[in-house]
Amino acid sequence: MSTSSPLLVATRNTHKTSEIQSMLGAGYEVSDLTSGDYPDVEETGTTFLENATLKAVEISKVTSGLILSDDSGLEVDALGGEPGVYSARYAGVDGDNEANNTKLMSELSKLPPSTPKTARFRCVMVLAENGKRLAHFDGSVEGSIISELTGDKGFGYDPLFIPDGYERTFAQLGDEVKNQLSHRAKALQQVISWLENR
Ligand code: IMP
Repeated sequence: MSTSSPLLVATRNTHKTSEIQSMLGAGYEVSDLTSGDYPDVEETGTTFLENATLKAVEISKVTSGLILSDDSGLEVDALGGEPGVYSARYAGVDGDNEANNTKLMSELSKLPPSTPKTARFRCVMVLAENGKRLAHFDGSVEGSIISELTGDKGFGYDPLFIPDGYERTFAQLGDEVKNQLSHRAKALQQVISWLENR
């Protein structure tokens, strides 16, 4: 009989959790911080790696087993890499996707029309256990930002991001395509190899 391995993802973003569960498949039983009484971990770092480490290590101090964290965001070249690590709270309120997208469109509309709108999503994942970081992984996907919200799938900046090689946004392409090429998919592939060779 095959059993699935438990994996706690240190996030309250259920979109991230379901992307991770569907990419990992039936071999893992993924849960997240919405299913228990876990402390809030303040993201005080200035890099994806610092924040991902904080989240995984702090949660691994209060519960047993393997903890996976994901710190991710969008880097827009014409904005000097913003919103970057501040992606979730770009417009001020943590997790207000609508306000964040409005701010991004507004900032880009102030630039000369010929400015390239190249960007990338980045994702750093950390595995931790018993208060210690075991390993970290980095994934990214290149693309560009469009000026109007397009598509209703996904979350966050998905309606504004067209991955290179495609003509539709992540919010139009949906999870099946996104989970093949996203920053999170690329980081998670490395996590899977690491776990298999552990
Ligand atoms: P974190 O939860 O602190 O890692 O912040 C992640 C933020 O980056 C989210 O709230 C989104 O704004 C953005 N983000 C990260 N990954 C994605 C994605 O796959 N699609 C769209 N936005 C994303």
